[in-house]
Amino acid sequence: MTPTNQHQHPHSHAAQDFDGVPALVTGGASGIGAAVAALLRDRGARVAVLDREPSGAPGGTLALKADVTDDAAVRAAVDRAAAELGGLHVVVGNAGIGAVGTVADNDDAEWQRVLDINLMGLVRTDRAALPHLRRAAAERPGRVSITHTCSIAATAGLPQRALYSASKGAVLSLTLAMAADHVREGIRVNCVNPGTVDTPWIGRLLDQADDPAAERAALEARQPTGRLVGADEIADAVAYLASPRSAAVTGTALAVDGGMQGLRLRPA
Ligand code: NAD
Repeated sequence: MTPTNQHQHPHSHAAQDFDGVPALVTGGASGIGAAVAALLRDRGARVAVLDREPSGAPGGTLALKADVTDDAAVRAAVDRAAAELGGLHVVVGNAGIGAVGTVADNDDAEWQRVLDINLMGLVRTDRAALPHLRRAAAERPGRVSITHTCSIAATAGLPQRALYSASKGAVLSLTLAMAADHVREGIRVNCVNPGTVDTPWIGRLLDQADDPAAERAALEARQPTGRLVGADEIADAVAYLASPRSAAVTGTALAVDGGMQGLRLRPA
């Protein structure tokens, strides 16, 4: 199979990129995942949301309750999504949690808990989805994709984020290795690296701060653009990576981070 030779550039409007495309979004009941699920739905995809608390899944999506730490539950949810949506062409592995502290601040159990969600949750999702994606890719090479929500924490060296950064570093490496393994099958694998995104997660972080307004200002100042990234802005990037417009893009980490990764601003 020579996937690139079979590629036809989609001249249609972006709004039609996902017409009837079956898509699964993990962690799609809140924040970034909910924005992705809603955008894919609005662009015509048939969307399933896999979440441990699925009540916030956007309307018009198939909400499936599963915890990504439970391999059997993930398999059942992925297979059900494929059965109800008519296969799977697009997987967005996004479920994840935060962790604060230096390497010494979290014990083994906490390290394992976070890695079990942020890394192994993607492994379980992708493993369950691959048979469905392979079937789809045999017919539609380049149009079948996995997109992970990683983080600029994977490469930025952020303070007080040892465990979280390590979990996302692993996600970045997983993304690159999977891109290599599955490129000749016609399955693309990429990730987005968000900066700090205005989601319920950040709301919870601010609630715990001594001075939430000052903490928010500090998070905003950390980004060269001087503001937090919107969940809808991450969703746009995911939609690009999941659409046939990016058929030549695989093994890429797309930073949507207000310039955090690339810019080194001089102090004013
Ligand atoms: P969020 O807390 O608003 O949403 C996360 C969703 O994932 C929730 O619906 C939650 O129920 C679900 N989830 C969590 N653990 C799960 C599990 N074990 N099984 C199934 N579902 C589970 O968070 P968000 O800010 O939208 O973050 C989504 C992703 O984006 C995460 O992977 C996170 O690491 C990444 N990210 C977020 C930011 C940010 O600043 N918000 C920055 C970089 C990366």
